[in-house]
Amino acid sequence: MANTKGFHPIPLGVRVKGNIPVKLREVESRNVVGRVNGADASLASQVVIYSAHWDHLGRGVPVKGDGIYNGAVDNATGCAEVLELARLWAALPQKPKRSGLFLFVTAEESGLLGSQYYGEHPEVPAGQTAANINYDALPPFGKVRDVEVTGAERTTLWPLIQQDASRLGLEIKPDAQPGQGHYYRSDHFSLARVGVPAFSISPGTDYLGRPAGYGAQVFEDYNSHRYHQPSDEYNDNWDFAGMEQMADFGLTLGLDFANTPQMPSWNTGDEFLKTREASGIR
Ligand SMILES: [Zn+2]
Repeated sequence: MANTKGFHPIPLGVRVKGNIPVKLREVESRNVVGRVNGADASLASQVVIYSAHWDHLGRGVPVKGDGIYNGAVDNATGCAEVLELARLWAALPQKPKRSGLFLFVTAEESGLLGSQYYGEHPEVPAGQTAANINYDALPPFGKVRDVEVTGAERTTLWPLIQQDASRLGLEIKPDAQPGQGHYYRSDHFSLARVGVPAFSISPGTDYLGRPAGYGAQVFEDYNSHRYHQPSDEYNDNWDFAGMEQMADFGLTLGLDFANTPQMPSWNTGDEFLKTREASGIR
């Protein structure tokens, strides 16, 4: 009843008294950032950000005698993508116009704290940040036909993203559970909050050479047996081909974002557009 419109409080005739013990612990941590300068004299002051969160849960309650929460999928996979993209950009003989920023944020698991801090204390102002591509927990189970870039359809980068996806043979899959608000629960959201066009890249569930339902099955298996548990650790049967695909896609997008003449923004009517315009983009 309390969830219905026009509800008025009803006295229950009951008094409840209790206390919730709270322990405050101060923890210091770091975001880590690297930069590869762009080639264009006037656009090199602007950046495209690749991000991934490097933290996991650390040591915790042991499960089957193992108290180390490795976070191999969540999010060593994402960190590996960003690290490799940094290496690739640094090795490019011809750099794109804008600069590349490679951002490893901390304390995602504690509520996007590291990326929020970055959004509020950026290396390069939000108005000079072209876009943010985030990677979080890439399932290492092989190549896919589809990809998710939820939120990207709300930005002026959308036509470019669609072009790049089809060039790489990837089908863009709409958000499978829009009601879950996934867009607001990942590090890219911290950048969107300060106006930067931002989204995460994650593979879809349509795996090459696997029967229908394989994607859902491996996701379900990971979710119930390894996600946020000590058992999220490296396994020899991992197949990195899908991660290579997602890195390829991210590289193509990032280079195009770095070279596009117009500063990217949010589409007309979008909730982040006002902040974007206020951040002083040209
Ligand atoms: Zn994560």
